Amino acid sequence: MQRALRRLNVTLIPETCVGVEVGALLLANGARLVCDAPVLAVGTQAPAWLADSGLALDEAGYLAVNAFQQSTSHPRVFAAGDVASRVDAPHPRNGVHAVRAGVPLLANLRAAMQALPLKPYTPPPRTLNLLACGSRYAIGTWGPFSFEGRWVWHWKDRIDRAFVARYAT
Ligand SMILES: Cc1cc2nc3c(=O)[nH]c(=O)nc-3n(C[C@H](O)[C@H](O)[C@H](O)COP(=O)(O)OP(=O)(O)OC[C@H]3O[C@@H](n4cnc5c(N)ncnc54)[C@H](O)[C@@H]3O)c2cc1C
Repeated sequence: MQRALRRLNVTLIPETCVGVEVGALLLANGARLVCDAPVLAVGTQAPAWLADSGLALDEAGYLAVNAFQQSTSHPRVFAAGDVASRVDAPHPRNGVHAVRAGVPLLANLRAAMQALPLKPYTPPPRTLNLLACGSRYAIGTWGPFSFEGRWVWHWKDRIDRAFVARYAT
């Protein structure tokens, strides 16, 4: 991905941004970076209200859940997706994990309401990551492997369009 950025004449500055001014960014190392169009990679953050909820959280403040997508402290609370952290099987936060965990989440919510046994869910050990780079070019990763090209973009485009089409009315 760094190679692709260099090809596109994008300068990557791996420094934390601590402030934004008109026409400039303030960096953690004390520098003031004058720029026209900054692009910041912000990552995810746990919702602030979780901190006061009394629910068990992981070290980053996300809701700690077990193999049933159930809060490790409050058995009547279930969660999946970005807000949750599987403490028994940590995995990255992304749409693939969020969507897949939705099915067992629903099943276990129903089971809990009917006092039936809960079923454990095993998240996939790796997910397909496809990053569009513009100009119909994309980079993909699958575990330790990476690949790139126009064919990867077309693959991603097909997957994305098929996913969105499922929600078309
Ligand atoms: C710009 C961007 C690009 C991304 N691209 C990809 C990608 O290409 N592939 C991929 O796999 N993942 C991608 N992701 C990550 C992916 O979007 C998330 O992992 C996924 O959406 C998580 O799903 P979720 O249902 O857990 O949370 P969300 O999709 O964030 O849904 C949470 C919902 O809860 C609502 N909500 C929040 N607080 C409250 C409240 N207090 N009361 C009521 N409702 C509330 C929010 O409004 C939101 O609708 C991307 C994320 C971003 C930001």
